[in-house]
Amino acid sequence: MKQLPFIFRTLINGYLGKFYKTLGEIRKDYVTDKFVILPQNSERLDKDIPNNSELCPYCPGNEHNTEPAMISLVSKEGILQRLSDSEDNIIENWSVRVFQKKTPIMTVNTSSIYTDKPLYSEPAYGHHLIVVASPEHTVPLSKIPVEQWSNILLVIQERLRYLYNQKKVTYVSVYVNHGVFGGNDIDHPHFHMVTFAEIPNIIETEAISSFKYINENGNCPNCVAISIETDGPRQIIATENFIAFCPWSSIYPYEFCIYPKKHSTSFLKLTQKEINDLAMITRSTLGGMSNALEDPSYNLVFHLSPEKKNTRQIHWHVEIYPQKITWTGLERGYGIYVNPIKPEIAAELLGASSRKELAKLVGIT
Ligand SMILES: [Zn+2]
Ligand SMILES: [Zn+2]
Repeated sequence: MKQLPFIFRTLINGYLGKFYKTLGEIRKDYVTDKFVILPQNSERLDKDIPNNSELCPYCPGNEHNTEPAMISLVSKEGILQRLSDSEDNIIENWSVRVFQKKTPIMTVNTSSIYTDKPLYSEPAYGHHLIVVASPEHTVPLSKIPVEQWSNILLVIQERLRYLYNQKKVTYVSVYVNHGVFGGNDIDHPHFHMVTFAEIPNIIETEAISSFKYINENGNCPNCVAISIETDGPRQIIATENFIAFCPWSSIYPYEFCIYPKKHSTSFLKLTQKEINDLAMITRSTLGGMSNALEDPSYNLVFHLSPEKKNTRQIHWHVEIYPQKITWTGLERGYGIYVNPIKPEIAAELLGASSRKELAKLVGIT
């Protein structure tokens, strides 16, 4: 079915037009490899998603409105237990809850129809998990306790391991949409984990450039960047194992990233101690950003290596893009970015605010 002659592709596109409307699909550009996902049941255009805790499907008490939990993290006598819902039992009193999204971008129930260029199409096969970060509807990720952040990161690490063991999973994206300009659909703090059968373009480009640099120079370009940014004008804060800074060529105003100081290509290899440290720096910088910029919309994305043996490895990191301005024709039409805030100015503001937050949090823990 993979390589159909043009005549059959045309027939399929015609006769199965209705079918196409109901199943998720990935289409590629006529010429380039740029692709778009046309999900099975998109909610992106829905305007009536409930956003108060009574109706919120991610709030405790409304668990029956989501798919069953694959993981419910429950604290019992001081010990964290990973439980899951069964047909007749929904786990309550959870602190983190993971389930398949009800209206996923990628799904395992797809057609098996492939067509070739110029009308390239393949099934949008994959997984789309929601990690509800806390039972509290109104406490954003920038305010939740550091310990809770550690628990979330542990669950993400565990689900990454699980997803990389599923078929047709070449890459797992992990990201947060916060606020209306971040593309959020439900206010309740949560993460998305979406899998792909191929490596997303941006990660592929990072990995290829990185590999080329290592071959030519013998060291990792991100390690070089970290040594330049350490204690420099773009550093925000640093902890024992991590550093947060505004990148030299930031695209978004107040954009920043968090890197492990030592070269690391595998998020799965993070120890509990390193997870706690990552929780501390992430919570401090998000808190600092939220205070300094008055709770802006933002996206937080994990740039991780595909956790499979291949050459597409990157020094993993987290990127945070506050959404303070709207893109113009230059950004949308030409991929050329104009950033009105120099990263050095951004780092000064975010640094002062994040240092205060870090001092407060270290005082608590
Ligand atoms: Zn909620
Ligand atoms: Zn490195």
